[in-house]
Amino acid sequence: MPAVLPKAVRELTQELTSLPGIGTKTAQRLALHILRQQRSATARLAETIATLHERVQTCSVCFSLADDTICSICKDSSRTKSTLCIVEDALDVEAIERTGSYTGVYHVLGGLLSPINGVGTDQLTLHELTSRAEKESITEVIIALEHSMEGEATTRHIMSYIQNLHIPVTRLARGLPTGGDIEFADALTLNAAFSGRTRV
Ligand SMILES: [Zn+2]
Repeated sequence: MPAVLPKAVRELTQELTSLPGIGTKTAQRLALHILRQQRSATARLAETIATLHERVQTCSVCFSLADDTICSICKDSSRTKSTLCIVEDALDVEAIERTGSYTGVYHVLGGLLSPINGVGTDQLTLHELTSRAEKESITEVIIALEHSMEGEATTRHIMSYIQNLHIPVTRLARGLPTGGDIEFADALTLNAAFSGRTRV
């Protein structure tokens, strides 16, 4: 079948299909939508994407995404530094912050242990978690990982060394949406999961 759409549109479509959940049809529609936009809007979009890597940093304390070397939560002196909530990624931090009821700090793992997908302890910030737990005076660790196979494996791994430090560990109550992904839970559900957290 001959290519009907111009090369530039086809190239943009190709780029967009590399994004998760975007098939060819959606990518074509998005490409035409971008084409119909004002040049200034297209330039702004391109500039935002092009500068993303240099503008986003990883917080040197909690490993969440940040504008600076230390994120706004770690910088905030009103946060309870002795309560540490372990999450998979920055979107989970965002979801928990939306509840407005958690006042502790976070540790972002950057994924979950998954031998099938080649994710081992070295790909995650587990060593950094150990040294934080050893150095900082933490009185409670809250594990806010999804109740999936990977979530369970990661929790077991964390427990195996936190137990030796005698820090009380709690886990969010079940009842999160199917798949248990924290980032998709609404504030009310997350709030309930936090207050119903159980000792591991
Ligand atoms: Zn931080």
